[in-house]
Amino acid sequence: MTTLTKTEGEKAPTGPDSFLSVRDLRVRFSTEDGIVKAVDGLSFDVERGKTLGIVGESGSGKSVTNLTVLGLHNPKSTTVEGEILLEGRDLVTAPEKELEKLRGNKVAMIFQDPLTALSPYYTVGRQIAEPYMKHTGASKKEARARAIEMLTKVGIPQPQSRVDDYPHQFSGGMRQRAMIAMALVCDPDLLIADEPTTALDVTVQAQILDLLKELQQEFGTGIIFITHDLGVISDMADDLLVMYSGRAVERGTVREVLRQPKHPYTWGLLSSMPRLGADVSQALNPIPGSPPSLLNPPSGCPFHPRCAFTGEVPGDRCSTERPPLGEGRDAACHLTAEQKQSIFIDTIQPRLR
Ligand code: SF4
Repeated sequence: MTTLTKTEGEKAPTGPDSFLSVRDLRVRFSTEDGIVKAVDGLSFDVERGKTLGIVGESGSGKSVTNLTVLGLHNPKSTTVEGEILLEGRDLVTAPEKELEKLRGNKVAMIFQDPLTALSPYYTVGRQIAEPYMKHTGASKKEARARAIEMLTKVGIPQPQSRVDDYPHQFSGGMRQRAMIAMALVCDPDLLIADEPTTALDVTVQAQILDLLKELQQEFGTGIIFITHDLGVISDMADDLLVMYSGRAVERGTVREVLRQPKHPYTWGLLSSMPRLGADVSQALNPIPGSPPSLLNPPSGCPFHPRCAFTGEVPGDRCSTERPPLGEGRDAACHLTAEQKQSIFIDTIQPRLR
């Protein structure tokens, strides 16, 4: 059952430029084995026209967070607490009808696999035109013209004729472009892109990322860009949130987090990335172990069973005390600022060269 934590319709202030403001979000699922804490006290903001990157391994809670923002969780088995403020309106308490109106209109999503979003039974043009008619009241003719306009914008050749093609007649890259056209047809204020280029080859991936940046400039859309690929994020995002075990463990501008990372998990993600021009004899440094169970997350810092630096923290704080994440630029870790800096310079930075 969806738990409502505020009075329906109550408004709360957001930051000056913040279009979406998520505060202390907690998402839990009931399963036969117990309660899964998929998101455990997450806060972030997205500004208009800016991109927030969210990175983390599978099971870190990044996709669940965004499905919850869209209200696409199963209300029968999911408990949602906290606030998801879209222009001050709390979506946690909004009725399903209102969420339905927002989806595709103010907030849209593009997925990793366009075949899950595009129906094989309808033409691409119809699938772009329908949400436009639904949300704007446009006629069939107007919506078809809009579909052609959007296909042109996303770079589909001969849009006048390709508008009548079915998804299987498009290549993988063209289907991804069509899904972007579908997501942007109503000019949404917020676009959630969940691993949108993972399934594509590198050249098409670069074209799609360029296209998203161009469209963002044209439409002023705020983007949440979810990925496990720090290479992609450095190109796309303004701000970055690193997630682990349903929590944010590091936050800052993309430059700050990638150039001066402060959390051992972020160090691990960066060290495990293949580097262009790196010495091929140099081994990658994967993070040992696997992501924690969300049914029984570890006590204290959830990263402690995999962390190589617990010995630097006095006592057993890493396994008993959850490190908080402050506002703004911060990392949720018990190491002191001096320790973080010296470990990064002496141990981590040489691995990244
Ligand atoms: Fe590692 Fe301890 Fe920092 Fe967690 S709090 S990241 S276990 S050093």
